[in-house]
Amino acid sequence: MAENPLFAPSDLPYELPPFAEIREEHYLPAFERGMAEQLAEVDAIASGTEPPTFANTIAALERSGRILDRTATAFFTVSASNTTDGLMEIEKRVSPQLTRHSDAIRLNRALWARIKQVTTEDAEEAWLLEKYRDDFIRAGADLSEPEQDRLRAINEELSKLSTTFAQSLLKASTESALRVTDPKELDGFDEAEIEALRQDDGTYALPLLNYTLQPGLARLTDRDVRRRLYELSVNRAPGNFELAVTMATLRAERAALLGFPSHAAYSVADQTAKTVEAVENMLGQLVGPAVRNAKKEAEALAEQAGFAIEPWDWSYYSEKVRQARYDFDGAAMRPYFELDRVYRDGVFFAATKLYGITFAERPDLGGYHPDVSVFEVADEDGTPLGLFVLDPYARPGKRGGAWMNNLVDQSILFGQKPVVINNLNVTKPASGPTLLTYDEVNTAFHEFGHALHGLFSKVRYPRVSGTSVPRDFVEYPSQVNEMWVTWPEILANYAKHHETGEPMPAELVQKLKAAEMFNQGFQTVEYLAATLLDWAWHKLAAGETVADPEAFEATALEAAGIAFPLVRPRYRTNYFAHIFTGGYSAGYYSYIWSEVLDAESVEWFKENGGLTRANGDHFRRELLSRGGSIDPLTAFRNFRGREATIQPLLARRGLT
Ligand SMILES: [Zn+2]
Repeated sequence: MAENPLFAPSDLPYELPPFAEIREEHYLPAFERGMAEQLAEVDAIASGTEPPTFANTIAALERSGRILDRTATAFFTVSASNTTDGLMEIEKRVSPQLTRHSDAIRLNRALWARIKQVTTEDAEEAWLLEKYRDDFIRAGADLSEPEQDRLRAINEELSKLSTTFAQSLLKASTESALRVTDPKELDGFDEAEIEALRQDDGTYALPLLNYTLQPGLARLTDRDVRRRLYELSVNRAPGNFELAVTMATLRAERAALLGFPSHAAYSVADQTAKTVEAVENMLGQLVGPAVRNAKKEAEALAEQAGFAIEPWDWSYYSEKVRQARYDFDGAAMRPYFELDRVYRDGVFFAATKLYGITFAERPDLGGYHPDVSVFEVADEDGTPLGLFVLDPYARPGKRGGAWMNNLVDQSILFGQKPVVINNLNVTKPASGPTLLTYDEVNTAFHEFGHALHGLFSKVRYPRVSGTSVPRDFVEYPSQVNEMWVTWPEILANYAKHHETGEPMPAELVQKLKAAEMFNQGFQTVEYLAATLLDWAWHKLAAGETVADPEAFEATALEAAGIAFPLVRPRYRTNYFAHIFTGGYSAGYYSYIWSEVLDAESVEWFKENGGLTRANGDHFRRELLSRGGSIDPLTAFRNFRGREATIQPLLARRGLT
């Protein structure tokens, strides 16, 4: 058997993972060797006889675990985007092992004793040292042996439950799909779309996307079909309710062991929010006005419909209101949003205008699927910057949503330039060009904002590379990048009709802007309801039990003042992947928290002349290039010139 490609560094440019050579059977041995190698490295650090220094302790830890890092990066990239039964089996097996492994390092008493003795005069080192101390304390390094034993057991159990939750969700997207036998029931979809849903047995199946309001609800004309689709959506993967209860109670118990009243308190302590009160204070300012707006919108919808609407009617009639009131038809935009052009002449073009960077496709480099493409990114003077990998299409075996991650972390320590990937879930047409919705264009710019954060990283240590910032800060740069979607100079460059090349009519964009304000109430309530649901699950105190998770959900929304039957949370408990599988537990508030900084930054760009190289350079230097190597709010102040206020956000969301 040839050598396992994960054992040695990739010899591809930028150390791009050699996906073409990696086979399923390579992962387990590489995980095993990687964990063993890192434990040996950590033991050597912990049992050192020299006095502990930054170099022989912290920098040495940063250097450890190279095989494991490579393996985990390749594995989790593929298992998120193109999983198989085999990969799912490996994930089930390896997730609890990885949890045990991480505990073995952070609960290593000899290592912890040495870390506590390290001192440094250098500012970047001091910041990293503080992070290490915080990581160890938060992982339980200061607890007694019996407490640590319990902690290990909880972590392992949580990691298993999280994998089960994710896998049942992936299955539910097809198992709970809307099935119809008569294509007439799909009236509202065009012929090509209906054809794409046809199954081998002649029936039609519309798979569920991972949020409450399925996009089909905006167009399906048969009200009863809409009701069925909606109910399938909100009731999918019912077994996950019980998993959620178990996970929330285990997290509460763990928080108590670590000295916090709840998992929410534990979770925000190392975020920019820092306290439960700070988060609640902010959410409290938004709930009342948002619900009022949504109720006003509901009245307009009922008027349009001519009857009292139900939740499954919301999207359908809001499209109708947009057409009637604003003469806006979202579908009319799609012919102007061709995927390839949106990237080259929109997303990339905006980055060139702001930062001077250029993009060259590298067809010689590939990913884990033929639809993945690779671009080499260079600075204005031609200096290579890194690779950008793009996987735009939905496929069975890809999880829902859109996301970015690093394939190679930038670090000066290893002399490594970044490799980053963006994943979207755009439906691939059977033939012809891929036309995007306005929301998908927005997502493309958003995810590329994360990509820029990774690509511009200029830090010494991998632990703080690129997007390794607090969760309630990480969405901020990506949200800022959305401002260029409708920036006139950018839009004019990419929004061209795929057949005629005609630019998008200016009035279509003006109508869009006007119509966008209309659904703000809905969008804010849908988001806040999910946030407050996350919050309720994670404010449980240790020992509190939940007998009926669906009743708990209803009570939590009622108590938070966000219960509005026509607008359910964007995610109910049973499919709230962000908080039960995705590392956003007690963290879904992050999106709106980051949006305060985003709205402030958009103002800054506008005040300073918008799309200019000088503005781009300033944002890059003060913010994007810093990664997690300095205090994030200091980076923000350095960029903005002052603290953030909430006013621009309130104005943007129509909440003033
Ligand atoms: Zn994001």
